[in-house]
Amino acid sequence: MSSKRKITVAYGDGIGPEIMKATLNILEAAGAQLEYDVIEIGEQVYLKGISSGMEPGAFESLKETKIFLKSPITTPQGGGFKSLNVTTRTSFGLFANVRPCKAYSPYIKTHYPETDLVIIRENEEDLYAGIEHRQTQEVVQSLKLISRPGSEKIIRYAFEYAKKYGRKKVTCMTKDNIMKLADGLFHKTFDEIAKEYPNIQTDHKIIDIGSALIAERPQTFDVIVTLNLYGDIISDIAAQVTGSVGLGGSANVGEEVAMFEAIHGSAPDIAGMDMANPSGLLNGAVMMLVHIGQPDVAEKIANAWMRTLEDGIHTGDIYQEGLSSKKVGTQEFAQAIIERLGQKPVNMIPTVFDKSATEPMNIKLSPVTKSKKELIGVDVFVDWDEDGRDPNAIGEKLRQADADGLKLTLITNRGVKVFPGGMRETFCTDHWRCRFQNAGQSPVSHAQILDLMDQVAKLGFDFIKTENLYSFDGVRAYSLAQGE
Ligand code: NAD
Repeated sequence: MSSKRKITVAYGDGIGPEIMKATLNILEAAGAQLEYDVIEIGEQVYLKGISSGMEPGAFESLKETKIFLKSPITTPQGGGFKSLNVTTRTSFGLFANVRPCKAYSPYIKTHYPETDLVIIRENEEDLYAGIEHRQTQEVVQSLKLISRPGSEKIIRYAFEYAKKYGRKKVTCMTKDNIMKLADGLFHKTFDEIAKEYPNIQTDHKIIDIGSALIAERPQTFDVIVTLNLYGDIISDIAAQVTGSVGLGGSANVGEEVAMFEAIHGSAPDIAGMDMANPSGLLNGAVMMLVHIGQPDVAEKIANAWMRTLEDGIHTGDIYQEGLSSKKVGTQEFAQAIIERLGQKPVNMIPTVFDKSATEPMNIKLSPVTKSKKELIGVDVFVDWDEDGRDPNAIGEKLRQADADGLKLTLITNRGVKVFPGGMRETFCTDHWRCRFQNAGQSPVSHAQILDLMDQVAKLGFDFIKTENLYSFDGVRAYSLAQGE
């Protein structure tokens, strides 16, 4: 049996084929033990009418090899096409997006030469679930779903990553001062898991100041773990401040399958011109080699690549007059790296990978202790655009729906309390949240809610949706209104 590891490879669109050819040439010259199953993805597949951008056989290849080295693809403009990245991430459970952002100063221009951080972004949940609805003339909603196991999995991954790669600190970033339940769950889970890693420093930053600090003091961060949307944004900020947006590689890691790629897109403006910098994909491939247990080959390539940068052999995108010695094309750049295999950088710190690094880390979730869940009310959302949108008018009408003990206790508009006792100045849309609870907040039955809905409908209201209000172990498990 061959000792070579079979991986799935996609050449992609635009500059994809050129940078993949350069990358595979380097991998081969460095002695990577690989064989390839090449699949077709991207524009040509989309244009055949396959909305996922991936031939059905491509999924079979990934199921078999479990490792995907992917060039960027062009996403056709217009509706109907799904993001291939999102499809791959969600279909194969690639829950962790890992993006190292490192400065290579002075060879790559940056204001922060000491930057060396890794962003570990949750990849499956949050607003990226894409559960959206238009509910009224004026209002749409996008659901942000955060789960305990999803949060725990990515947070454990971040700590295991820090341990495996000798990183000292893990910073969690959330906006839990505002989203106390969703982001609060992530932060709370982080604090719990952190206790299991006493040798790793931890801290938490609110995402807005956290982003500002990445832009201004990136060298103070080591590993950052965060939710999907924040991670997407801060990883571009971090890549930009290190000056290496075109050089970054990225890994999307699941329990079984992992996908490795460049951060950048298919750059159709320079496709076929032998101008593209293959470094992003090459750095993705280096991460892949570490992941599949070939860290010595990964190290050899990373060091030869840094040596090439130091020798001033640069593609056009990183060429600097006075510093670079030679402007080269894609394949010549790859050749220069191949010639330096076995050499180390002289001025930059050589890369060293832990030789014991092997296949995906074993992430075990904590056992779940069931809480006592009690139904204690209901929020009824209605579409209402009458009586000059006077909150007192809708309040008086809905009071007639008080049924079988459930009483209207509160109405909010875009989260702000407008009834009873709202402020005249509050701007109201046509989207109203109306809260019903029993006196003394005693438990509510489903039958009571059904009766209530019957009454609300009879009063002529279009109820958009209901949201049950629960307590868990006696603790309120829903947010209060602004001004409540
Ligand atoms: P892009 O990253 O492709 O290009 C932005 C700019 O950077 C262009 O001027 C380009 O020439 C330059 N550039 C990018 N990579 C380079 C490299 N390796 N060497 C030298 N210069 C490089 O972003 P875009 O133009 O917004 O997107 C083009 C296409 O790529 C779109 O269809 C987009 O949907 C797709 N895209 C795909 C992925 C992916 O497959 N992972 C990621 C991002 C964008």
